[in-house]
Amino acid sequence: MKLAMIGFGQAGGKVVDKFLEYDKRTGSEIVRAAAAVNTAKADLMGLEHIPENQRVLIGQSRVKGHGVGADNELGAEIAEEDIDEVQGAIDSIPVHEVDAFLVVAGLGGGTGSGGAPVLAKHLKRIYTEPVYGLGVLPGSDEGGIYTLNAARSFQTFVREVDNLMVFDNDAWRKTGESVQGGYEEINEEIVRRFGILFGAGEIQQGQEVAESVVDSSEIINTLSGGGVSTVGYAEEEVEERTSGGLLSRLRNDDGGDELDSAHTTNRITSLVRKAALGRLTLPCEIEGAERALLVLAGPPEYLNRKGIERGRKWLEEQTGSMEVRGGDYPYRGAGFVATVILLAGVTNVPRIKELQQVAIEAQDNLDEIREESEDNLDDLVSDDGDELESLF
Ligand code: GDP
Repeated sequence: MKLAMIGFGQAGGKVVDKFLEYDKRTGSEIVRAAAAVNTAKADLMGLEHIPENQRVLIGQSRVKGHGVGADNELGAEIAEEDIDEVQGAIDSIPVHEVDAFLVVAGLGGGTGSGGAPVLAKHLKRIYTEPVYGLGVLPGSDEGGIYTLNAARSFQTFVREVDNLMVFDNDAWRKTGESVQGGYEEINEEIVRRFGILFGAGEIQQGQEVAESVVDSSEIINTLSGGGVSTVGYAEEEVEERTSGGLLSRLRNDDGGDELDSAHTTNRITSLVRKAALGRLTLPCEIEGAERALLVLAGPPEYLNRKGIERGRKWLEEQTGSMEVRGGDYPYRGAGFVATVILLAGVTNVPRIKELQQVAIEAQDNLDEIREESEDNLDDLVSDDGDELESLF
């Protein structure tokens, strides 16, 4: 599936940059066009793969290229004021060649948190292609203001996109790691999961066509209907038969096929369970998910229809959904078989409820402090008997 990716803010830009790197490394060709938008010049300069003419600095007259300092209301205002500059970068994208837009942002900061929903709304008004969001939630140790920003942005972003895929930094935080090093690994994780998911609908010429290949329309149909999505992943190393499946064909001749295929089927079903019950990009209860898509990626000799069918049935039981799609993504040279599960329309997400609770507390606390400090400043500045007069 070919995407036009727009990274808003620092996290958004870095993740889109990583997608481009992944694209170059694997030849998956999912990024048809990429752009980065920011109010901070230094963040745009730190990107490596997004072409320089596709990096848009907005809000120059307001913040002089220094960013909005985690003020997402300002981030949203600036995005609205400078939307024409963003559109300028989008104008150079051959939109007829893309299947969808993907707007990526960290929701805890200012620029992306405020700007991403504004951009999504703008894109939806202008184009007929679906507009998806990839929103990153902050770690719970980042503090009240980040949580408040994320809770408000999440609410707004969900409403403006055709589907919001969520990645929760909090679930992926590792202790004892530098923040930068931590993000590096986290961004790899994001790109691996979504790279395989979107790559599945983008079979290149000359690639082996498997029995039931995932098509981009299946990804689009799973995401359609709006709401919030999460992605599960599991992989297992396998030894690749470099002679293009010759060995497996030889095995067929001496009757080894059945054993082999039973083993393959079992491996697939166990990978499906691991992916669905392991760590999701947004941890949640999978029961009640409205739709799901199961992608099995790997060398063709390790994929089989029976495994996918079983995995699909199991997912139907677990989610209670009747809309579970599944298919292959023949993928040579990686040395692994991987399962990616997209769970769309999830509603039982304790993490979001907790985020909102902390956000409300932070908001009350901020209001209180603001009122108090106004009173305190008044006390300090005015003399007790009100005998002094201001100049003007
Ligand atoms: P902005 O530039 O004002 O939009 O803010 P940032 O993107 O710098 O930060 C917003 C939030 O995104 C932070 O609170 C972090 O939770 C998260 N974040 C920042 N950088 C990264 C990154 O490289 N990867 C990931 N996964 N999250 C990040």
